[in-house]
Amino acid sequence: MVPPWEDDPLVVQAVSLPVETRVYLASLIIAALASLMTWELGMHDLVITNGTVVDGTGASARRGDVAISDGLITEVGDLSGQQAQRTIDADGHIVSPGFVDVHTHMDAQIAWDPLGECSCFHGVTTAVMGNCGFTLAPVNSDARELVVRNLERAEDISADAMAAGIDWSWETFPEYLDFVDATPKGINYAGYVGHSALRTWAMGERAFEEAANDDDVSKMAAQVQASMRAGAIGFTTSVSGNHETSDDRPVASRFASRDEINALVQSMADLGPGGIFELAQHPDMRSPDPAKRENYARWLIDLAVSTGVPLTYGMLAFGTEDHKWKPVVELLDRITAEGGTAWGQAHSRHFGAILSFQTQLPFDALPVWKELRAQPLEEQRRALADPSMRQQLIDIADTAEYGRAIGTEARKPEWQYVFPVTSGLPPYETIAELASARRLSPMAVFLDIAVESDLNMFFMQAAANHDQDRVLEFLRHPQAIPTFSDSGAHVSQIMDSSLQTHMLGHWVRNEQAFTIEQAVHRMTQVPASAWGFNDRGVVAAGMAADINVFDLETVTPDMPELVYDLPGGARRLRQTASGFKATLVNGHVLLDEGAPTGARPGQLLRGRLAN
Ligand SMILES: [Zn+2]
Repeated sequence: MVPPWEDDPLVVQAVSLPVETRVYLASLIIAALASLMTWELGMHDLVITNGTVVDGTGASARRGDVAISDGLITEVGDLSGQQAQRTIDADGHIVSPGFVDVHTHMDAQIAWDPLGECSCFHGVTTAVMGNCGFTLAPVNSDARELVVRNLERAEDISADAMAAGIDWSWETFPEYLDFVDATPKGINYAGYVGHSALRTWAMGERAFEEAANDDDVSKMAAQVQASMRAGAIGFTTSVSGNHETSDDRPVASRFASRDEINALVQSMADLGPGGIFELAQHPDMRSPDPAKRENYARWLIDLAVSTGVPLTYGMLAFGTEDHKWKPVVELLDRITAEGGTAWGQAHSRHFGAILSFQTQLPFDALPVWKELRAQPLEEQRRALADPSMRQQLIDIADTAEYGRAIGTEARKPEWQYVFPVTSGLPPYETIAELASARRLSPMAVFLDIAVESDLNMFFMQAAANHDQDRVLEFLRHPQAIPTFSDSGAHVSQIMDSSLQTHMLGHWVRNEQAFTIEQAVHRMTQVPASAWGFNDRGVVAAGMAADINVFDLETVTPDMPELVYDLPGGARRLRQTASGFKATLVNGHVLLDEGAPTGARPGQLLRGRLAN
């Protein structure tokens, strides 16, 4: 018996296949027909309607709809009457590209936080990690503690959390990138390869003791090149006095000579244009001695110009004297003038530590205070209610010698630069101002406010960027980008994941120092194109659909809070934001009215030199 369809060669082939294959082929045909039908009907995956599109290029805001299919923006304009599987009504809202934060330390956090907190809450859809030389690869599997030693204090990431939360399935940096690629993630990540990790991998304990020899440098250079070919975004290092290990020694990269750093940047340049060099600056950058400043700046200018590799670094004002802030601006200008490329990472507000009785205080290591702070909070409340104990604590705080604080560790308070964080945005009243208004000593006011809040109040202690006019000047520099959140690091000391929402709520809405078009441009297209994310940072057809929908009238960082949810139960500061209707990553809604949807649409973005 011959089936009637035997003459049709296609049907005969299908009939001869196993049943599972036939079912699979049938499902493919149905899916293809379905997508053909939705295409014919003009059915998009998602349309954002009635929004005010601020497209990231700096062009004027315009009313429009944005269509998205298969993770990409497919149309922008008047799409009324067109069909979509889902519609987001953005009436009264800005529709912008997702923000790009090029200074984070999410390298470890990505192992236990699939969402991308707290950056994701503030509109960041792409985070660049591995800054300042601190990465988790390359690493020898029998010496992981050396890599952890670099990170633990310098970035305040709990060693216990890293031990409990990371499975260390890699040794080389390319293997680490594969881990990031395979890990479910809410937002996009790109990663630098870090010098401290390279050194400890190549040199072992010697990395914390001495200069690299020729063999060490060759080994590191080869790994830098392998990392770049695998998709690293660049190479990072720290020569900063703020970066120490828990036993008060410099981190590994600080033992490097300039020649070693030059060789590693050159090894990246040898592969062609596309890599970026990030550096945490040496104290000589802001030395009161002009000769030291010039010697240091000359090194970096020559390196950037001779290699053609863009240099990027944090742009902070450490004080009001000229040498404490001007050199960070001049370095950008001089590299640009001599034909190189440099990008300043401009923080958008005070830069410093968050203080509280629940976390850290400047007084924690002082006599009497030390015993008090080791007690449960209930005991501390009782002690503060005892007038003689309280006076003793005040006297010690006012007169004691404070130890040296590095990075974002709490330091001896200058009360004109300490303020209670009473809302998500300024204005804030400093402790010095409150003290003169209440006719009390600053320390008494500080304790009063802490006790009145049941020890829940957070205080901001500025370590840099004291003067907000200077902050604005930095943010306005043509080669500056609003970034430097440090997200993923200093998790119980600072909370700067909100610097993008501070930019929008404070500098755009309240101060009107930037138009919304300018602010969005600097947080999207500028960093995206400078870092090589050429398919992102603009709302236009063909671009990846990383999008924020927010209300400029209400967008605000929420108050920071303390949570104990790190692997092993360690604490961290957390801060969400108000005013976001939706944040999309690669066409999927990651946050809907601020609430995570459970989607994990983030991707590893490999660098321009990847092959
Ligand atoms: Zn950093």
